Amino acid sequence: WKNLPPSLRSIVEASRAHGEKIFLVYEDERVSFEAFHRAVAALAAQLATDGVKKGDRVAIVMRNLPEWVVSFYAAASLGAIVTPLNAWWTGPELEYGLTDSGSKVVIMDAERYERLAEHLPNCPELVRAYVSRSVEEISHPQVTHLESILGGANHWINLPDQPLPAAEILPDDDATIFYTSGTTGRPKGALATQRAVNSNIMAGAVAGARAFLRRGEAPPAPDPNAPQRSSLISIPFFHVTGCMAVLNTSLFGGAKLVMMHKWDVIRAFELIEREKVQSAGGVPTIAWQLIEHPARANYDLSSLESVAYGGAPSAPELVRKIKETFPKSAPGNGWGMTETCATVTTHGAEDYANRPESCGPAVPVSDLQIRDPADGVTVLAPNQVGELWARGPQIVKGYWNKPEATAQTFQDGWVRTGDLARLDEEGFCYIIDRAKDMLIRGGENIYCIEIENVLYDHPAVMDAAIVGIPHRTLGEEPAAVVTLKPGAEATEEELRAHVAEHLAAFKVPVKVRFWHETLPRNPNGKILKNELKKLFVEEQV
Ligand code: ATP
Ligand code: MG
Repeated sequence: WKNLPPSLRSIVEASRAHGEKIFLVYEDERVSFEAFHRAVAALAAQLATDGVKKGDRVAIVMRNLPEWVVSFYAAASLGAIVTPLNAWWTGPELEYGLTDSGSKVVIMDAERYERLAEHLPNCPELVRAYVSRSVEEISHPQVTHLESILGGANHWINLPDQPLPAAEILPDDDATIFYTSGTTGRPKGALATQRAVNSNIMAGAVAGARAFLRRGEAPPAPDPNAPQRSSLISIPFFHVTGCMAVLNTSLFGGAKLVMMHKWDVIRAFELIEREKVQSAGGVPTIAWQLIEHPARANYDLSSLESVAYGGAPSAPELVRKIKETFPKSAPGNGWGMTETCATVTTHGAEDYANRPESCGPAVPVSDLQIRDPADGVTVLAPNQVGELWARGPQIVKGYWNKPEATAQTFQDGWVRTGDLARLDEEGFCYIIDRAKDMLIRGGENIYCIEIENVLYDHPAVMDAAIVGIPHRTLGEEPAAVVTLKPGAEATEEELRAHVAEHLAAFKVPVKVRFWHETLPRNPNGKILKNELKKLFVEEQV
């Protein structure tokens, strides 16, 4: 195992160094580092018996459960390409994921099995399936209860202590396929190498120190007596942020990872108090809920040191709110995409307070460029808005089985992000919008985020999104969909007037519609704007 890449070596090293300390908490279940290691070794041995070899795809289709984590590392330790699928997908979408990736084994939870069972015969490359936490009798001959291999999570410590399989895994070997969120089209599988996975961990480890050095200060020395770190994970493992930025770094750093059955802000408060959680967040919506929920006052949340998020645009206002609400806690932001195997920029502490519109500078292993979107070649000067391109060892190799899309997006070691951004003189990045999420109203560029941020500033607004609605002569016009805070009131006219106070008239939403719950989002916190556009289309008929 000493020849394994660092991300995999840490399974063994953490089990030796931290033994009985708790690694995974799921509601009332607690799994120590040692029990985790035993479960990984047991499942890896079983997968080897099933014929899983280096390069085979092993799909994981479940919500955040301790078994997700075990499945990921068990498959990884054989050199298989781990292929997590989105647990929110429907049966046909999951079938697409399994056949597109050509997965040989799928490991799922009972809910996903119900959705997938009738589709399994349509996946020709599948030789075996495991179901976790299933109460049903399984009649399908290829499907086995995961518990028959592992037992329940509370019993993993009783599994035999056996070594991980001896796989030779090299830096350029394929490691994972994660599917993009599908915000702009059908999800694409992004194929990352071991080097990409490990670079993400290493870049995260040094980015904090780099921020001190940039300001001419020495980074603080690590405190050997500091208590074990603890993170609440409320975003799914099946997106890169959950897996690469939270899970892998937790195992590598010997931190405790607290999972929840599903996101619920009150449950989050309970767990932060009970597990003395230091980092929480994930996506901006979650950060807002932690701040705004009145029940916050009933819990001891003094352990919180960091409320960090990424994956979706966040209002600059959030930075100030976090500092006000949790004075001991630093806000953090990071930019990345599935194609960058998680993090490319990180932003925190004073830097973030001084530049709340930015998502930070590139991590020390990466470079950013702003290029002219028209030709994709000309590099623009500081502060000019153009398309963001990124380079670094964590960028994925390409899209699985999609040579044309790969050639368009990955060029000479750079990835074309589809985001519009600018870089300031010091290299801090400001995401303006997705190239596809801006609208042009009679020749004027309108970035949805700019208007959304103004709406977030209004005291009654909890959630806001701008969408383009068609206009015969102007092309498109901005319209808003807004959720108000519980008990708060505001009219369409008031909100339009509020935007008009801050922004040019052509940016004032021509219509404001109210939505009665949090806006529909995918699990990565991205607002499903296509759903919102339907509101206005229906009005026109
Ligand atoms: P698809 O590519 O399938 O259409 P997607 O782009 O939403 O879906 P992801 O890879 O999950 O899939 O998301 C990456 C995108 O998320 C980035 O291109 C960017 O638009 C957005 N994003 C990520 N981090 C941030 C951030 N800190 N601030 C603003 N936007 C962000
Ligand atoms: Mg994308």
